[in-house]
Amino acid sequence: MILITGGAGYIGSHTVINFINAGYDIVIFDNLETGHIETVKTLQTLGNVVFEQGNLRNAEDLEKVFSKYEIEAVIHFAAYSLVGESVSSPAKYYRNNSFGTLNLLDTMVKHNVKKIVFSSTCATYGEPEYTPIDEKHAQNPINPYGMSKLFIEKMMNDYDNAYGLKSIKLRYFNVAGADSECRIGEWHDVETHLIPNILKSVLYKGQTFKIFGNDYPTPDGTCIRDYVNVEDLAKAHWLAVEYLNKENKSDVFNIGTETGDSVQKVFEVCEKVVNKKIPVEVVERRAGDPAILYANSTKANSVLGWYPEKTLYDSVLSAYNWECKRFEDK
Ligand code: UDP
Repeated sequence: MILITGGAGYIGSHTVINFINAGYDIVIFDNLETGHIETVKTLQTLGNVVFEQGNLRNAEDLEKVFSKYEIEAVIHFAAYSLVGESVSSPAKYYRNNSFGTLNLLDTMVKHNVKKIVFSSTCATYGEPEYTPIDEKHAQNPINPYGMSKLFIEKMMNDYDNAYGLKSIKLRYFNVAGADSECRIGEWHDVETHLIPNILKSVLYKGQTFKIFGNDYPTPDGTCIRDYVNVEDLAKAHWLAVEYLNKENKSDVFNIGTETGDSVQKVFEVCEKVVNKKIPVEVVERRAGDPAILYANSTKANSVLGWYPEKTLYDSVLSAYNWECKRFEDK
C-alpha cells in the first residue's frame, strides 16, 4: 500500500485519485485539521482507500499505521502552509512540519520502508537571484514555512546517507485548479490564494477582489507566478514513485510550467471563464511577495518524463466549477 500523509487536503487528495487510477491501494493519514472528512469519503467511493486519523507529532499514531499496513512507499504532504502564519507562529511550523517529519522518517526506518516523495516548495529558494529558477538556485528561505521545508529536505538527505532511505523532493511553484470531474477541489477554511479569491468575488455578493500591488517591476506592474495545475502536479508524484522503484536514488525536481503569469493576466483569464466583469480594486503590496517567480522544470521533463498538460484556462475553469458546486451546496 501507499501511505499518503495529508491525503485529505488539497494537493494530497488529488494525488490520491492519481494513485487510485494507477491501481494502488492507499492509506490516508491526516489529522483533519485543515483536510476534510468529506473529501476522504469521496475518495473512498473511487478506490481502495483506508483512512487513519492521526498526528505526525505523535510517533505512536505513526507506529500504529506502520504496524497495521504493509507500506511500500510514502507520499508526504501533511504540513502547515501559510507563509504569514509561519512568521507569527514559527514554532507551529518547526514542530509540525520539521519535527513531525522526523517522526515519520524514524518510523519508516524502523519498519524498513525506504521510499518517500516529499511535497517541498519553491519557498525554499527565498528571494530569487535569477529566473527561471532551477534546482541549483541557492536555498535561502525568507520565512519559517520555507525554512521548515528546507530542514526536511536536509534531513532526508542525511537519512539517505545513514539508512539508505531514498527520497524525491518535489519543489512546487503555485498550484491551481481542481479535479476535472469536480469531485474534489481546493477547500481552505481561510482562503489566501489568488484564483479562489478572484472566483469568490464572482459568487459572493459584496466581495471585491484585491490586487496586492500594481507597482512591481513587471510589464503590467503585478506579480508574476508559475501556476501549475493540481492534476498535472499529482501525476508528478506517481512518476516520482516509479522513478524510485526503477532507479532507487534520491533526487530533487522543480514542478512548474515554466510560464510566468501576472496577477492581472490571471484576473483576465478568470473574467473570460466566468464571462462577466469581476469587482476589483488595487491595494497595497502584501509583505513578503517577490515580484517574479517561475520555474525551470527541464530536469523533471527529461528525468521523470513529467510535462504539464493543462493550461491556466483549464485550471481556472475547473476551480470555478468546484467553487460553484461548493456555493450551491451551502
Ligand atoms: N494575490 C493578490 N490578491 C489575493 C491573493 C493573492 O493579488 O487576494 C497575489 C499575491 O500577492 C501573489 C499572487 O497573487 O503575487 C499569488 O499569491 P498566492 O497567495 O495565490 O500564492 P503565493 O505566491 O503566495 O504562494
